[in-house]
Amino acid sequence: MSGERGPQRVAVVGGGLAGLAAARRLTELAALAEQELEVLLFEATDRLGGKVGSEWSAAGVLVERGPDSFLARKPALLELIEAVGLTEQLTGSIGPALSSAIYRDGRMRRLPPGMGALVPTDLGAFLRSDLLSLPGRLRALADLWLPPPPGEGDLSLRQLIGPRLGREYLEVVAEPLIAGVHGGRADDMSVAATMPGLLGFLRRDGSLMRGARRQAGQAAPSPRPAFMSLVGGMGSLISALEGHLGPVCQYRQAEVSAVRSRGRQLSVAVGARGTGGGEEWVDAVILATPAEVSARLLREGWPELARPLGEIRHYPLLTITYAYAKGALAEALPGQGWLVPGREGLTLRGATVMTSKWPQRARSDQLVAIRAFLGGPSQTWITDRSDAELEDTVAHEIGKMTGIQEAPLEATVVRIEDGNPAYRLGHLDRLAEIERQLAGVPQLALAGASYRGIGLSDVARSGQEAALRVWNALGWDEDGPATVIG
Ligand SMILES: Cc1cc2nc3c(=O)[nH]c(=O)nc-3n(C[C@H](O)[C@H](O)[C@H](O)COP(=O)(O)OP(=O)(O)OC[C@H]3O[C@@H](n4cnc5c(N)ncnc54)[C@H](O)[C@@H]3O)c2cc1C
Repeated sequence: MSGERGPQRVAVVGGGLAGLAAARRLTELAALAEQELEVLLFEATDRLGGKVGSEWSAAGVLVERGPDSFLARKPALLELIEAVGLTEQLTGSIGPALSSAIYRDGRMRRLPPGMGALVPTDLGAFLRSDLLSLPGRLRALADLWLPPPPGEGDLSLRQLIGPRLGREYLEVVAEPLIAGVHGGRADDMSVAATMPGLLGFLRRDGSLMRGARRQAGQAAPSPRPAFMSLVGGMGSLISALEGHLGPVCQYRQAEVSAVRSRGRQLSVAVGARGTGGGEEWVDAVILATPAEVSARLLREGWPELARPLGEIRHYPLLTITYAYAKGALAEALPGQGWLVPGREGLTLRGATVMTSKWPQRARSDQLVAIRAFLGGPSQTWITDRSDAELEDTVAHEIGKMTGIQEAPLEATVVRIEDGNPAYRLGHLDRLAEIERQLAGVPQLALAGASYRGIGLSDVARSGQEAALRVWNALGWDEDGPATVIG
């Protein structure tokens, strides 16, 4: 690795979607400005994409490593998909965006219509459903006349939903719906960081349900399905991005162990694998690694910045994609999938019927693919269980819940040690502190799911914003650094 001065150099650490979006935007900015810029991308593993990846299994079902779709309402990912030439591959999910049922007290309960904003908007349908016990449904209606809580501060999911809609609603509906997306617990999940709209409903309408009903009444019909994906799975975005990165020096199996400051330059210490190891001198660094990793990399040089970063936790997640013969189904599966409240005491936390959402994700229409989700802060013990044990336990639970009487043809386990981040109470204060600390180091930027949104569109946007920040810091734009954390 060289230490000589040549063109300006930027290191992007982490080859997940955020890092790839950042690297791509940097080469694009340099090309537009006709400036020479060397972009170095360091990825610890031997593949790009991080949590995003898709592979066909031996039985013929598409196994997604992480995301299987994205929220089409936010523009950044759609724009990226268009830029890498994948627009023709876009496909909408069949049916509603939400899981279709909740498994409670030993039975599947269909989610009534109008549950999109986490609280019911169709009160008649909610009252007629068997989602909660009758006292539980009646208790939820108290939200309509209870006074809003005093103060403007943040609340945990439990502090918000418990007093307004009741404990049963919290445990059977709100917690499983949110745990399916965010990596936190009801007790300490920050509503201001995850669903600020709910706090807005309280402040403006005095009630969650009234606010959600007002919003649903005002929503213009969308020309697209709420969730979209790519025909070949979300992994095809990564393959296409690899081909559209521009002149980026890619180092795989190159784990970065520290970032340090040397005057105006920064140094990136790279592990022994792949690059031969050593230290790279660069003019700017984008850390597109999970916050806990970024904290480790910055601890020596910027301890005050590392502290709040280290408080943003990611918990392990595990998915098992089962392939079943269609003939094994004794009864209809609950549409898109179902959720299982923690209080049921089961291992399975949620399941998606992949072939109901995306029929093209099985090579034969005689196959049914069900993807099971486990993990998060209340199931950290999954790391101590073997794949075989979890495959058997969860297949047995799925059999009990759905009436599938035969064993699956195949099970594919994917373990993600640093699963989705938990935006815990104080998350926004932590981000403000991180921004304060970063203000003095404009040539350093952070990107990725740990900060302002875990969905793919937010993650892509964060990478692009981080690229713009360091581009400005390199002195090619008089406006100075744009955003601090993408
Ligand atoms: C099971 C699951 C399902 C999901 N489903 C959806 C969904 O349907 N829709 C949606 O929008 N989102 C979904 N998400 C969320 C979304 O996939 C993630 O938020 C997003 O992919 C994170 O991207 P990232 O680039 O921030 O991080 P990552 O993908 O984690 O990338 C970080 C990269 O940094 C590398 N790295 C780490 N340490 C180092 C180091 N020291 N040196 C060099 N490289 C390093 C890692 O190997 C990795 O490649 C899901 C996530 C999971 C886990």
